Amino acid sequence: SKPRVVVVGGGFAGATAAKYLKILDGAIHVSLIVPEAGYITCPASNWLFAGLGDIERLTVDYRSLQSRYGVAVVADSAKALDLSGKRVHLQSGEVRSYDRLILAPGIDFRWDRIAGYDAAAAEHFPHAWRAGPQTLMLLRQLQAMPDGGVVLIAVPADPYRCPPGPYERASMMAYWLKQHKPRAKILILDAKRSFSKQALFEAGWAKHYGYGTPQSLIEWHSLADNPLLELHADSKTLVSEFGDRFSGDVLNIIPPQTAGSIVRQSGLADAGGWCPVRPATAQSRFDDFVHVIGDAANYAPIPKSAFAANSAAKACAMAVVSLLREQPLPEAHWLNTCYSLVAPEHGISVAGVYKADSGGTISPVAGAGGVSVAKDAEAERAEAEYAQIVYRNLVADSFV
Ligand code: FAD
Repeated sequence: SKPRVVVVGGGFAGATAAKYLKILDGAIHVSLIVPEAGYITCPASNWLFAGLGDIERLTVDYRSLQSRYGVAVVADSAKALDLSGKRVHLQSGEVRSYDRLILAPGIDFRWDRIAGYDAAAAEHFPHAWRAGPQTLMLLRQLQAMPDGGVVLIAVPADPYRCPPGPYERASMMAYWLKQHKPRAKILILDAKRSFSKQALFEAGWAKHYGYGTPQSLIEWHSLADNPLLELHADSKTLVSEFGDRFSGDVLNIIPPQTAGSIVRQSGLADAGGWCPVRPATAQSRFDDFVHVIGDAANYAPIPKSAFAANSAAKACAMAVVSLLREQPLPEAHWLNTCYSLVAPEHGISVAGVYKADSGGTISPVAGAGGVSVAKDAEAERAEAEYAQIVYRNLVADSFV
């Protein structure tokens, strides 16, 4: 009988794995468990704050995976895993058996870190760290803010989904505020001491938004030694360990994160909240027949990005095919590229190539990556265009 692979989660990681399994070996029965008919990409969702694009253009579906590649798309969600019986229990009551299971559930939020900030509070103070209604809520709040108002963006410590994302978001908001509410201010309250592409972001903010002057639209504050501990919803105030109070008109609180709940329930995550894997095959360190990819897995130092999820999904698909055929494993390497817009015509990027040693330690390949070299406006415009092209290609490679 045909080998059966079940893939849980239809984000960049799960969709890519399902598609590439069918491309590599059409004889494998691949089912993809997706809770919704469509998926809204987080990549490019920050661009909405600058007035670029809309949610419809960020929405993809799974029809092509089904019709072009023969993936069995199952509209359901995984409720529980029976690891010893190699079965997945779905919400509908259906049970699916597998020879190999690929888990790609993305992230969940830790609601226990900032007192007063929980799932209910996120309905008023959006994290917008899953794209969709949360993004639109934050956009409406930004647009409704008075001129002279303050936006707070609370950023967690590493690791979290999309390291440069909060700073791209601040940039896109600043671009819009500069035109519509030039007396406004964005305060980034960061649990870190430094951040991804910092020198490039700060140079861009100085160029476009007065960064470093009293009139700057953006201020960045490291709270690495003085973390945010409480939200006072009534006064829209965040309070830090030393009692510093930050009040705003719009509060965008990005909470600390963990792997999606299905893997934590099943004992596949470690104390840090993420799934340890053998990088070469993406096999869980706790179960040889389970593979974990995307944001839920720990591939440090590779950042948690859609690009990296797509890359790891392809390596995982190749490994699964080899394991099912009992053939030698191909040598895996991984790619990451993250473009960010500082302004609509000013893009910056970071890229990396990674390899793992036989013990499973991942490291960057020397000389094979780096960040943009600041040159001139033409280079900035070109990188902004590449940001759009990379986004479209990544969506096409994962879903179409
Ligand atoms: P997800 O995309 O979260 O997909 C997981 C899916 O699994 C979800 O649809 C979820 O509903 C589903 N799921 C969960 N549990 C179950 C279950 N039990 N049963 C069935 N389904 C389940 N990355 C880039 O590369 N470039 C960018 O420019 C970029 N910009 C970003 C901007 C923002 C604002 C944010 C928040 C992120 C950005 N990212 C970017 C990061 C990127 O979105 C993530 O790294 C990527 O989505 C990870 O893919 P994933 O498949 O692991 O998880």
